[in-house]
Amino acid sequence: HMPTAELQALDAAHHMHPFTANAELGEKGVRVITRAKGAYLTDSEGEEIFDAMSGLWCVNIGYGRQELADVAARQMRELPFYNTFFQTTHVPAIALADKLAELAPGDLNHVFFASGGSDANDTNIRMVRTYWAMKGQPDRKVIISRKNAYHGSTVASGSLGGMTAMHEQGGMPIPDIHHINQPNWWAEGGDTAPEDFGLARARELEEAILELGADRVAAFIGEPVQGAGGVIVPPETYWPEIQRICAKYDILLIADEVICGFGRTGNWFGSETMGIRPHIMTVAKGLSSGYAPIGASIVCDEVAEVISSGEFNHGYTYSGHPVAAAVALENLRILQEENILGHVRDVAAPYLAEAWATLVDHPLVGEAAICGMMASIALTPDKARRAKFASEPGTVGYLCREMCFANNLIMRHVGDRMIISPPLILDTGDIDEMMARIRKSLDETYEKLNE
Ligand code: PLP
Repeated sequence: HMPTAELQALDAAHHMHPFTANAELGEKGVRVITRAKGAYLTDSEGEEIFDAMSGLWCVNIGYGRQELADVAARQMRELPFYNTFFQTTHVPAIALADKLAELAPGDLNHVFFASGGSDANDTNIRMVRTYWAMKGQPDRKVIISRKNAYHGSTVASGSLGGMTAMHEQGGMPIPDIHHINQPNWWAEGGDTAPEDFGLARARELEEAILELGADRVAAFIGEPVQGAGGVIVPPETYWPEIQRICAKYDILLIADEVICGFGRTGNWFGSETMGIRPHIMTVAKGLSSGYAPIGASIVCDEVAEVISSGEFNHGYTYSGHPVAAAVALENLRILQEENILGHVRDVAAPYLAEAWATLVDHPLVGEAAICGMMASIALTPDKARRAKFASEPGTVGYLCREMCFANNLIMRHVGDRMIISPPLILDTGDIDEMMARIRKSLDETYEKLNE
């Protein structure tokens, strides 16, 4: 390939990066990623970078699996595209829907395909509203979500999400989306015990339902463990109370499993880890380990039955794309046959949890939260008071991310929280290496702050 500087210049001239202050990139110089294997990326200068984020929380089986490339090539030769609209279907979509119905808990037996998580959540909005309309309750349109949640970047899924920076772009949230507070005890719990705080935050759902009128509320959506909101592991009391409230008012429960699904929390789905029984699950990312763009809504019998009794006027050109579906199936085969979930539960997650807990000994770290292979630390100037930094929120987090980057470690920040979501296949040596880089980056951040 061209020399790095030339690639960077072309990138700066023509490529608009998502979620990025593009003008700043020129000064900093982007890194051009050229190859990847296991948990390591290689850039155009030959530097190896430990990817503690699995790309964007998605490369669950790790990079460089030849089997997925082979399956994609074979499928492209046989049937590169056909749709599943009207009265046609194809083998990869049939097989993947069947496999997902087998893996999903309870009676989540029906699959509607999308190209990723955002458009799968758009599907969910339309699906739950259609469901209630077809049941003769067309006023049930409101979907309750949570502040600081991320459910995607289309106008509708960005509205479901509770990211104010996105809403401030204008026109969002779209009507009939309501947000309650997130169960972030460390930042917002004050003197309340975590269990009581979990209950209080869940009961905000009931308050919202009563305020809006139960006959107007269609569904509640939440991630079992909030990911892009900062890997917020809710107190144990939270989800059972949410489940109880949804059942009491006959509200559909949507679990956004885009990050939590496919082994991230040690089970196939975060709903199993958190004891949630959703009516619909959103999946994407780990479904194909990011090797091909695909998402889906996995739907329970009752909702599917009602929707299927009429025409659901919705669908994407790439709903059930044969190449993406074939790649996803192969990814699920690898997850299953190589017992990667077992590896997470028995080896990687316990080992990481033990190492992660020691981070609270660092002077910058308040809380160290973890669930399976997703984890976060809250940076603080004063852990006893769970204090915030005097600087603009996110300044210290950004600095720490930069330190990580300089140490060839991809770790993200959400405000002043640092997060990881590494490939599930890490062995204990990999975890040691990742933790060493994290500690070094934290030390350097601390030194810099005290300069
Ligand atoms: N839902 C959750 C919980 C996510 O984390 C994301 C992406 O990060 C999405 C939905 C959107 O998925 P996509 O980027 O594939 O559209």
